[in-house]
Amino acid sequence: MANRTDDDLFRALNQPRPWSGFNAFHSDPLLGDLTRSMSGPVREELDSLGRYVTSPEAQELAQMANTILPQLKTHGPAGERLDTVIFHPAWHALMRRSVASGLSSSLWETPRDADSKSKAHKLRAVRLFLSAQLECGHLESLSATSASLAVLSAAPQLRAEWAPKLLSRKYDSTNRTEAQKSGVTIGLAVTEKQAGSDMRAVQSHAERVGEGIYRLSGHKWFVSAPMSDAFVMLAEVDGARGCFLVPRLLDEGHANGLRFQRLKDKLGLRSNATAEMEFSDSFGFLLGAPDAGVRTIVDMLTLMRLDAAVMSAGLMRASLAEAVHAARGREVQGRALVTQPLMLRVLADLALDVAAAGALVFRLAESFDRARDSTEEAAYARIMTPVAKYWCTKIAPGVIAEAMEAMGGNGFVEDRPIARHYRDAPGLALTDGGGNAMALDLRRVVEHGGELFDAVFRGIARDLGSSGAKIVELLKAAMALSRSDESAARIFTEQLALAAGAAELYRLGAGRIADAFLETRLAAGWRSTYGMLDTRFDASYIVDLLFPDMD
Ligand SMILES: Cc1cc2nc3c(=O)[nH]c(=O)nc-3n(C[C@H](O)[C@H](O)[C@H](O)COP(=O)(O)OP(=O)(O)OC[C@H]3O[C@@H](n4cnc5c(N)ncnc54)[C@H](O)[C@@H]3O)c2cc1C
Repeated sequence: MANRTDDDLFRALNQPRPWSGFNAFHSDPLLGDLTRSMSGPVREELDSLGRYVTSPEAQELAQMANTILPQLKTHGPAGERLDTVIFHPAWHALMRRSVASGLSSSLWETPRDADSKSKAHKLRAVRLFLSAQLECGHLESLSATSASLAVLSAAPQLRAEWAPKLLSRKYDSTNRTEAQKSGVTIGLAVTEKQAGSDMRAVQSHAERVGEGIYRLSGHKWFVSAPMSDAFVMLAEVDGARGCFLVPRLLDEGHANGLRFQRLKDKLGLRSNATAEMEFSDSFGFLLGAPDAGVRTIVDMLTLMRLDAAVMSAGLMRASLAEAVHAARGREVQGRALVTQPLMLRVLADLALDVAAAGALVFRLAESFDRARDSTEEAAYARIMTPVAKYWCTKIAPGVIAEAMEAMGGNGFVEDRPIARHYRDAPGLALTDGGGNAMALDLRRVVEHGGELFDAVFRGIARDLGSSGAKIVELLKAAMALSRSDESAARIFTEQLALAAGAAELYRLGAGRIADAFLETRLAAGWRSTYGMLDTRFDASYIVDLLFPDMD
């Protein structure tokens, strides 16, 4: 203390500068590789998004939207029903920018250039991955909106009516009807008190009143983004389940009988309201056959599961980038924390999962782009969607918790985004099908489409090289086990994720990273925490390659 000056007391000594003002695109070598063949203007746009998401201005918006929370207004001053939710302007600012960047529309637009034609999913996944590093609550709304266009295709006339506003890239938060607005969003309303994963237990009731028009009554227990302009809803109709588009307001601005009861007080994803809703005599428009609701809505859920995996990978990348940066800027016992052998080993071990998750989700997005022209890619998309959703969303909370710990007490404080990332991560696992639901979905493919695995296993074996044949044998054994024993479904799901993640790292040319990932995840014994990397793998090389020092 004797040598310290007053100045020192007011300055924060030995504190890394905030993880802010960097470039999340430019500093990520995986994104560099994945986008190398994309056009100059596309790369420039991604570079600008990468700068934006770590800018102090954007981070302040994200923090405000998550601390000044949405408010429910059920009634107006004269006692009239309003059923609206007021969001902070920061939420609207985040939405405006993300809608303009095409996150809710780009998959369905007339392609603007060669990249958006052949790589629409991959390009959007990169944008989503970067945007998730800023704020995930608002992305839930855009994910549902984008995915809703898949089910609107089941009713071409409705699609023609709604598509122009869905694809306008304009965010319009006014409380008016679709016809009066310049842009619209769509939410998902499936879950009821007695029915979540089990969609066939939905009890809300629909009654036919005209060609494709139904009157709906019932309740929904979780409805995120309740100010969406319409909801894709499941309801019972003549003993089966139908899928409907239910507008929030009808022509002339009349309410459509959707009453918001309460907003959930959620652990995370707090910027986005999630309402409990009751409705009676609400009009809905049928999407698909009246008895094929579950089959129809699965197309929407599939796209949302891909998004949840991408967002989780983005959250992990942002969290570890922040932790590595903090460890570089902090000295302990006379040297930078990042050079302390044990910390370096922990960070490198985490970096392997973050790299594999990134590789896996972009490979999955690519398979969606190619599925129409290739049965092998269609098989990959079908099989790997539940697998990637399972693995990425499930490891994210653990990865982020360890990254927080690497930052010491600072990681646990809401001043920095990592604490929010930690609270948001489990929500991504829960929505649109939790871990068991994903493992059971994979098992359904094992039972009813086992032949789809041939192409996927062939690709994995090829990319894994010399160890490919042995690992595919292991996968086949795990698959057989999951077929005979439902309770083993997670074992197969996890092993497939690890094998496919390693395969993709090899395919991308990240051989040394892939070796380390494969050896420590599939070849080694049981482990449940980080820092287990073998000394044969150069921890410093892994951290510096995957998280280059941008200071
Ligand atoms: C932040 C957030 C936002 C949400 N937003 C929406 C929304 O906008 N619209 C909407 O419709 N819903 C929404 N949900 C609800 C969410 O989709 C459901 O919570 C989820 O589908 C699980 O349903 P449930 O809560 O009824 O749990 P349950 O279905 O009761 O499941 C409980 C657990 O059991 C597991 N499980 C289910 N079946 C089996 C089985 N056969 N074997 C073994 N395990 C099984 C599940 O994976 C889960 O882990 C949201 C949830 C959250 C947390």
